[in-house]
Amino acid sequence: AAKEAGKNRYVHFRPEMHAALLARTQLTAGLRQSVELGQIAVHYQPVVSAGPDEVLQFEALVRWNWQGELMAPDNFITTAERSGMIREIGAEVLRRTCLELGPWLAGDPRRSVAVNVSGVQLQRRDFAEQVMDTIKSSGLDPRQLVLEVTESVFFDAHSHVIAQLETLRAAGIRVALDDFGTGYSSLGRLQELPVDIVKIDRSFVSMVVTGAEKLPILTSMIHMAKSLGLQVTAEGIETSAQARFLMEHHCDALQGFLFSRPRPATELEHALRTSVAGIAVVAKAATDAF
Ligand code: C2E
Ligand code: MG
Ligand code: MG
Ligand code: MG
Repeated sequence: AAKEAGKNRYVHFRPEMHAALLARTQLTAGLRQSVELGQIAVHYQPVVSAGPDEVLQFEALVRWNWQGELMAPDNFITTAERSGMIREIGAEVLRRTCLELGPWLAGDPRRSVAVNVSGVQLQRRDFAEQVMDTIKSSGLDPRQLVLEVTESVFFDAHSHVIAQLETLRAAGIRVALDDFGTGYSSLGRLQELPVDIVKIDRSFVSMVVTGAEKLPILTSMIHMAKSLGLQVTAEGIETSAQARFLMEHHCDALQGFLFSRPRPATELEHALRTSVAGIAVVAKAATDAF
């Protein structure tokens, strides 16, 4: 920070700046060690289809086993992006996901898993190649993999970032635009982006509190994405009123605590059962309403 302030200015190094720096260094060292020791865990959250009551997709969400506690990604992803560790973490998450979900995926070509990808990973020119190598060696069908990216990836995207996404899509891998609506790009720009799926951010879903509101932004986001031929998933569904509203507005898939929290691979069966039961209740209530 002192360097960035320029030659002629003197920035006092405050104690709290030092503490923040130290914490980040420790976090990075801890992360590096954990990746080497295999202490990166992945939890999986079902994404339920709004049509037939089936679970056809999971989202893989990283967890860090640190000093006996399971740390959520919001506490370490930014630091991991700054240090570049996100590349190792991302590679590990993909490997682990292929391994842990392989048996479930192998049963049905329509089943898929979504993995989050940071823009920092896409900066590397060999990213697409690495992804292809990992899924090839695990036997996963590329059509069963979805990569979730946020709008920021496209901001100052170099042509090689777009080119890599295109290469991956040409191989059958789908790209989802995560947290849709929170970025700065206009709805119109959606048309130009190399994406197959749009995930509507939870902040829009949470506006549906009784199911009776007029929610023009939410509904036009769904409508726009659908008219471009994209699959629409709504995230952060916590109430059955929200689920019903989104089903009535033709969302293709729903994800949220209402159906299941993210769970370790050993609890997939439980997550599937509760999700299928949940969507059946919501679907019945939606039918009864007419
Ligand atoms: P995201 O990709 O948008 O993932 C959805 C987040 O919303 C998850 O938080 C999930 O647990 C949470 N969520 C799901 N349903 C509900 C709900 O009904 N209510 C509420 N309040 N929250 C819900 P999580 O697991 O803490 O992950 C946070 C973010 O960290 C993710 O947001 C994603 O941006 C990032 N992330 C997670 N795993 C990875 C990873 O492997 N690589 C990278 N680069 N980023 C990751
Ligand atoms: Mg995501
Ligand atoms: Mg999201
Ligand atoms: Mg998010």
